Amino acid sequence: MAAEPRSHDCVFPATKKRGQDDFDSDDFYPSKKAMLPPGGVWEDPAAALASARHEFGEHGGVNMSIEASATFTVMEPETMRRMFAGELGPDRDFFIYSRHFNPTVLNLGRQMAALEATEAAYCTASGMSAIASVLLQLCSSGGHVVASRELYGGTHALLSHFMPRACNITTSFVNITDLEAVSSAVVEGQTKVLYFESISNPTLTVANIPELSRIAHDKGLTVVVDNTFAPMVLSPAKLGADVVVHSITKYVSGGADIIAGAVCGPASLVNSMMDLRQGALMLLGPTMNAKVAFELSERIPHLGLRMKEHCNRAMVYATRMKKMGLKVIYPGLEEHPQHQLLKSLANKDYGFGGLLALDMVTEDRANKLMNQLQNVTQFGFMAVSLGYYETLMSCSGSSTSSEMNEEEKEVAGISPGLIRMSVGYVGTLDQKWAQFEKAMSRMPK
Ligand SMILES: *Cc1c(COP(=O)(O)O)cnc(C)c1O
Repeated sequence: MAAEPRSHDCVFPATKKRGQDDFDSDDFYPSKKAMLPPGGVWEDPAAALASARHEFGEHGGVNMSIEASATFTVMEPETMRRMFAGELGPDRDFFIYSRHFNPTVLNLGRQMAALEATEAAYCTASGMSAIASVLLQLCSSGGHVVASRELYGGTHALLSHFMPRACNITTSFVNITDLEAVSSAVVEGQTKVLYFESISNPTLTVANIPELSRIAHDKGLTVVVDNTFAPMVLSPAKLGADVVVHSITKYVSGGADIIAGAVCGPASLVNSMMDLRQGALMLLGPTMNAKVAFELSERIPHLGLRMKEHCNRAMVYATRMKKMGLKVIYPGLEEHPQHQLLKSLANKDYGFGGLLALDMVTEDRANKLMNQLQNVTQFGFMAVSLGYYETLMSCSGSSTSSEMNEEEKEVAGISPGLIRMSVGYVGTLDQKWAQFEKAMSRMPK
């Protein structure tokens, strides 16, 4: 990790506006306490979100104001030098330029940090830029990553093709349910990161986060977990992970209208990523727009309610599909290999995730069913992505995992007829289920 002397120690909340007591150091919150609710114990993501600092608008508005400035003025010329020297930073409400820190984006970052129980977080223009930036921050040329063989297609391509070519960082892909295999893939002195998804795309394998973190920490690695599939449901940092990354595009946004991401982790890491000479976020520049950050911050308060209904409906559908004799993969079903594990790791009352996978065996049958579901019965949409209020369906092998070759797909358990469903919550449950049954009844035997 880059430890530049000039990095700003500046991802923590300030309570006063500058101009009052610019040099009053009581203003500075010690890092460990920053994202904890009063009383200091993080118990539940909804409770933590409710306790996170809520900033009021400039005129007393219940919502914070949007700081739509690319650049920031100073009252005295000397202040500029002190900001660039790292003596004054966002913790004291001193901002330089919005590719560095922006107050509105920082506010969303605080919400993400509260959600994920990390010291700090910063938001980016996409999930992929969050993932790429954090990996480039943690690894240098010649470095090595151990990663799950079941990953989002873009992440898989980044690790297997782009990073070896562009920066000589290589990856060994392993079955993360085989803890022995994970351990023996670590190359002493070279491996820097263990990377996996909390619930993996698209076969819904649940990671044993505590055990994987223990193995990684014994060997001095940083554990990076993509929690895109399970916000609220799982809290990887509470279970041992060091860094949590998100594609905010999915559940956190919920509107299928914005591409965004986040890196949640230790304040030292987030600050190093903003370093003026060595920071991956500062220098690669996948900056989130302040207006986008504001919109997203308005959606986080109902993320918990949305997740509960996504999970509830996925559980009902999976149970009913199974009863119909269909082959369905869902971690809420007892026969799922990690059902007990997820039960033991999950936060209370959210359920088992909002995705399920329906195996129609052949691509032809999968396509026929999806055609019925979208174009005849209006059950959902044929589209990639997830976390939308409508149900989204895609045939993983020929879409989101098509960056993988045939052998890689077989190893990852992606059958050609596998339909991934991101279960929506629009309409009534009975109405939507009747649409599914009708589509099934029209399928050729
Ligand atoms: C979509 C997705 C990403 C990439 O995020 P973008 O916001 O599209 O850049 C990464 N990981 C997972 C698990 C995803 O579903």
